[in-house]
Amino acid sequence: MTPATTVGLPQPAAWRWRLPYLLLALFVGAMVSLVWLVRTNDLEDQRATLISDVLWIEQNLRFQLEKNADLLAELGPELLRSEQISYTAAARAGRLIQPGNPVVQVIWMRPDGTVGGAMPRLDVMPSGGALAVELPSQAMFRLAAASGRAVFGPVFEAIDQDVRFALYVPYYEGSEFAGVVVGIHSLRDLVTREVPWWFSERYELSVFDQTGREIVSKSKVDAQATSLEYTIPLDPPGRGVTLQVKPYRAEVRWVAVLLGGAIALLAAGVIWSVWQLRRHMVRRQAAELALREEYAFRRAMEDSLLTGLRARDLEGRMIYVNPAFCRMVGYSAEELVGRKPPMPYWDPEDMSRTQELHEYILARGTTGDGVEVRLKRRNGERLDALIFEAPLIDAQGRQTGWMGSVLDITEQKRAQKLARQQEERLQATSRLITMGEMASTLAHELNQPLAAIASYSTGCLNRLEQGEMARDEMTSVVTKLGKQAQRAGQIIRRVHDFVRRSEPKREPLDLNAIVREAVGLVEPDARKRAVDITVSLTDPLPPVMADPVMVEQVAINLIRNGMDAMKAVPPSQRLLHIDTQISDNDVGIRVTDRGSGIPPEVARKLFEPFFTTKSEGMGMGLNICRSIAELHRGRLAFEDHPEGGTIFTFWLPASPQ
Ligand code: ADP
Repeated sequence: MTPATTVGLPQPAAWRWRLPYLLLALFVGAMVSLVWLVRTNDLEDQRATLISDVLWIEQNLRFQLEKNADLLAELGPELLRSEQISYTAAARAGRLIQPGNPVVQVIWMRPDGTVGGAMPRLDVMPSGGALAVELPSQAMFRLAAASGRAVFGPVFEAIDQDVRFALYVPYYEGSEFAGVVVGIHSLRDLVTREVPWWFSERYELSVFDQTGREIVSKSKVDAQATSLEYTIPLDPPGRGVTLQVKPYRAEVRWVAVLLGGAIALLAAGVIWSVWQLRRHMVRRQAAELALREEYAFRRAMEDSLLTGLRARDLEGRMIYVNPAFCRMVGYSAEELVGRKPPMPYWDPEDMSRTQELHEYILARGTTGDGVEVRLKRRNGERLDALIFEAPLIDAQGRQTGWMGSVLDITEQKRAQKLARQQEERLQATSRLITMGEMASTLAHELNQPLAAIASYSTGCLNRLEQGEMARDEMTSVVTKLGKQAQRAGQIIRRVHDFVRRSEPKREPLDLNAIVREAVGLVEPDARKRAVDITVSLTDPLPPVMADPVMVEQVAINLIRNGMDAMKAVPPSQRLLHIDTQISDNDVGIRVTDRGSGIPPEVARKLFEPFFTTKSEGMGMGLNICRSIAELHRGRLAFEDHPEGGTIFTFWLPASPQ
């Protein structure tokens, strides 16, 4: 919590922001490639399976035809040795041409190329249609005879639309050519018989002639259009005939599909979460920025304050100080934060009181008026501080410590002290002035006892010289002389006390007595001014704790002001009434004159120092009276008299008995 802490957070470089997106794009690309690769491999696998299946079927057909060629060759001796074929031969040939067997007719040809016979008879199965061929073909016959191997004739269409081809198998007796046995095969039967069920379940199998016309199909259902299809020449029977195989449906590899689906789902999830994360981060950044600005603003505010701020936890450990507080006490934040009492700025001469105050504040804070405490700066100077302590509440509403604001009132106190001293000096001066003003009155006052003393002593001397003076008479005159001398002494002592004393000396006072004294002092002056002073005292009065000379000074001032105000009034109306009052817990002296009264513009400035409307006035009287009232926790009030003139009341709190 030092003021020097910086607020800024490190910002990542721009490329670091983009890196996750780049990685994400690469990840998605890699996943798509993987799915594509799996799919391609899958198709390759399917294609390889298709090719091997087609080759297998072709092998199977070839094997069947070779087997049939062998069977036809075996029939050769029985069919060609004699004109009349035996039952055995007929039965064997018949077995070969059973329904479902691809061989539909057996023809045997003599060595000269003529037809020896046929089963069934030749005229029953003539060739025809678009693919009409010579049957049996002499060319094929010669080819078989010449090559000594089984030879396939061209594909042709029979009258029943069956597509057929002939297999010419030469027969030799020893090394001598003995004829050819021709097996007419139904291509459809061959395909139907030799293609197993599992193959036709998976593939559509078709045979096309050299013109591209479909001549045989194993299935009646069309396969879906697919890139997977395989075509090979069907040789034998050859001659442009091709075998085409199409899978009905590309096999669905569920593992690959599920894997692809999962990858797509995961990629979508990752993209979504990255997007959400980005939104969250953008919002967070905005919040952080706002917080930083707010923090900087508050910090600037705290730093610019002249009031010291300090926060303490519930144990009294310092947790925060602002620069103003550091300046005030002369210690740095590092030296103060974390410290527990006693603090280095506590005044060692006032340690126990400060400790008590500290414990008091930690227990219940301070009132709205604050608490004054004397501290010591690092450089040894004393510091008067006014502390306001309030609970430190955290975000959850719990009190975690105390927050204090500290005002440096050293200067203020010094100024107050100075003002007090000046005021006291002023009061003394004022008293001197008042005394100066009263000097002539006092002289007149003293004249009376002195004149009396002089006349008593002259009379006494005359009687003594005449020798007529009795002892009793003598005692009476000397007693009177003594009394007059005492009176003169009292007047002088009072003046002496009044002028010399400056410090208020509080003692229980009877305001009635003060009034009597004051009236006694001003009476000669009043007589001179033709002012009629009347006094009515409330008796008994509760005592007040006050300085008698100061209170008397206030009374004399008020009386003299009242008399001054009546200068312009005809002598018969110069009435000044003084009485004493009780109101609640206050006791007051009231001075009522019937003078000029106080106009509002004068009333506003009445208590200002040196404000006067009199040519010989000083304007300090009421100002001093009010200071004396405040010094005694009393007050000075004035109001208009309803019948003209002014009423001044000097209130003092009654002393508890
Ligand atoms: P000073 O008597 O030297 O003028 P004060 O402070 O005693 O100084 O009085 C200030 C002014 O208040 C006076 O000049 C006068 O105008 C006014 N004042 C005071 N007492 C009275 C009063 N009883 N009646 C009318 N005016 C008064």
